[in-house]
Amino acid sequence: MDGFRAAPASLDRGSHKRRRREKLASTAATAMQNLSFRLGSIPVRLHLSFFLTAALMNMGLLDRDIVRLLAWLVIVLASVLAHELGHATAGLLFGLQPAIELHGMGGTTSWSASHRTSHVQRIIISLAGPCTGLLLGGLVFALGSRFSADFALGQWIVGSLVFVNVIWGALNLLPMLPLDGGNVLHSVLDIVTHGRGARPAHIVSLVVSVASLGAAFWMGSLWCGLLAAFFASSNWQWLSQHRGTASGG
Ligand SMILES: [Zn+2]
Repeated sequence: MDGFRAAPASLDRGSHKRRRREKLASTAATAMQNLSFRLGSIPVRLHLSFFLTAALMNMGLLDRDIVRLLAWLVIVLASVLAHELGHATAGLLFGLQPAIELHGMGGTTSWSASHRTSHVQRIIISLAGPCTGLLLGGLVFALGSRFSADFALGQWIVGSLVFVNVIWGALNLLPMLPLDGGNVLHSVLDIVTHGRGARPAHIVSLVVSVASLGAAFWMGSLWCGLLAAFFASSNWQWLSQHRGTASGG
């Protein structure tokens, strides 16, 4: 239902003005929270909450060094965007139209429902993100030390780029929905069980997310703990909603 159909028929002129003001205020608020741009044919929406999470990942910088904090935000943005572009590029190769969203939980690449993809194509698309990050991390590690050996900030930037790309790639390979590793597990189980892989995939994801929550608590990582708790909750919810169904969707 659009706004015009929702409006009462007897809308007066004052109400029109008020609605226009409200619409402008709402548009301005949305623009302040999101930044949209395109990379080639791929639309990208960047939520400002992304930077809040990126800062939480390295809280030690918050009260120490503004230059390194800004560099850290750019490094996380570039690394997560490279990861999502890996998914998006693989999707484009299979005829999908991707859209990227960077938000407080990291990033998501979604697709227009133009056609169904095979299990193998979905596995390739899921692996393309972490593989891009791991390759990029390896490349920066191999080349970066040659150009940054002379100054400390350069060394720190290279080290951070390698760290974020490798950690982000490795974390996403955990067999835990909705991460990439969880999606690969789901597709593999679908192949093995002829389309009945959703329930076992969510059970494994719940076990891994609870174990990750314990590991985050042990490491004292607030960010990892919040992510693991969110994933444990979403997998538990899915299993509760699909209790007793044979295929689990
Ligand atoms: Zn991914």
